[in-house]
Amino acid sequence: MSFQDLPAPLQAALTGRGYAEPTPVQSAVLQPETAGRDLLVSAQTGSGKTVAYGLALAPELMGDAPRLPPAAAPLALIVAPTRELALQVKAELAWLYAPAGGRIVSCVGGMDPVAERRMLSHGAHIVVGTPGRLRDHLERGNLDPSALRAVVLDEADEMLDLGFQEELEAILEEVPEGRRTLMFSATVPRGIAALAKGYQRDALRIEATSADVSHGDIEHRALLVAPHELERAVVNLLRLEDPRIAMVFCATRAAVARLQGNLSERGFSTVALSGELSQAERNRALQNLRDGRARVCVATDVAARGIDLPDLGLVIHAEMPRDPETLLHRSGRTGRAGRKGISVLLVPHTRRRVGERLVAAAKIKATWGPAPSAEAVRARDAERLVEQALALAAEEPADDDVAVARRLLADPAIAGRGVEGLAAALVRVLRAPLPAPEEIAEIADRAPPRAPREAPSAAAPGGADEGGVWFRMDVGRDGRADPKWLLPFLCRRGHVTRQEIGRIRVLARETQFEVAPYAAQRFAAAARRGEGEDAHIRIIPMQPVKGPARRPRR
Ligand code: AMP
Repeated sequence: MSFQDLPAPLQAALTGRGYAEPTPVQSAVLQPETAGRDLLVSAQTGSGKTVAYGLALAPELMGDAPRLPPAAAPLALIVAPTRELALQVKAELAWLYAPAGGRIVSCVGGMDPVAERRMLSHGAHIVVGTPGRLRDHLERGNLDPSALRAVVLDEADEMLDLGFQEELEAILEEVPEGRRTLMFSATVPRGIAALAKGYQRDALRIEATSADVSHGDIEHRALLVAPHELERAVVNLLRLEDPRIAMVFCATRAAVARLQGNLSERGFSTVALSGELSQAERNRALQNLRDGRARVCVATDVAARGIDLPDLGLVIHAEMPRDPETLLHRSGRTGRAGRKGISVLLVPHTRRRVGERLVAAAKIKATWGPAPSAEAVRARDAERLVEQALALAAEEPADDDVAVARRLLADPAIAGRGVEGLAAALVRVLRAPLPAPEEIAEIADRAPPRAPREAPSAAAPGGADEGGVWFRMDVGRDGRADPKWLLPFLCRRGHVTRQEIGRIRVLARETQFEVAPYAAQRFAAAARRGEGEDAHIRIIPMQPVKGPARRPRR
């Protein structure tokens, strides 16, 4: 199916936008057998689903006419879970239906309801809104449902997750029998199936979620990081990849506020998106990202839903998502509209198993590795600085600049250092605005052994027959070396889990303990650095520490 069979004004809009070929979900909903039928479509954001239902509605909106009739009572209603998504849908349908003379009105929570009522009273072809606000307008008689020929539920699963079932049912009860109902949903859990059964007639099921289609342009990485170094890893990733726009996900509003504050302090231009912002603040944040005033958006899951920023090149999951669907939704903010994107899952090494399960359940292929080191960032900086300086030097210089350059070269202070000194000064100026990279402890890229459940002192770590590497620390019975304090301290200090610590001998003035062979190098490196109030406690290996041995098989 191509765009050629569509009404001329729609074709003109698509051509104007540079969209030559339909995406798979667009092709699917435009097949002849879908005409006039209810549809239940699995499609993710980024798949082109908005244009897909926009095009699918053309027969209901335009019939055989060359243009839309004058705007009166709305012909189609689109319900979306969040304000952002609703406004994005409105923007997308606005250009699609502009040549056909379309008038689209939005009704969303957080916006002025009186202005919306006024817009509705002037007539509309399509109304787009969030569930609560649409129900309000229906109940108050501002929104006349009598002429509706089609209803679209966009991100239906998300609307149920957000607790909008009652609003959706109230809306669906109001619209005339015989209308077309299109449901779009990333997943089809039981609640969605029930909604479809109750409110659709003989719906055609369309699957357009093939991993290749929606995630083909996303490179997934999973990086093992010490739990207290997540933020440093975020800093180095942002610096290394240097995307035009990056989105960093946290689990809570408090974490968003904290991370945004810390990133800003380091010199990143950031905005935050979380539920506590007013609509105006959210719009401003998104606008700052679009026009380049901000480059990093720190967000919670709900706040970032449906956001479409084509320049977004990097997604960082600073806190692991709670389920595979969230992992996919978050990752889907990048790699949009045919562009490439990178999605990085930061996995605290103590939760590696959880991370592995998450990646497997999301059916994505991720490359595992360590977080980028400060050295890697500096090396990339060097390349970029050279490129930047060469590009500057290639430009035709302005006369004023040449005059200053001549004065500089003639100055005895500069003449002594020569061109190298001048070039180094230029590099310093170019480097100045870049946030400093962070030193990060090396984490061995090894799976931990399956946890032995015995008490730590009962067996050697990493396998009963296999000896661990012994370390010594200068706190003994005379200090506070009791097991209650010891184990958590060692895990914290050495970035290991309890299972990776083996036998412990508390002596009078020192404590000796064993670390699983595969974790010994990591432990030694982390323990050497020491942080916080216990940093003065010295920990040294009692035998040579070799590279990570093979993980024991059980
Ligand atoms: P959506 O899945 O609706 O969020 O759309 C994702 C992005 O793809 C939006 O920026 C659309 O404008 C864009 N898009 C939609 N249809 C096409 C197409 N046929 N070709 C290229 N890009 C498209």
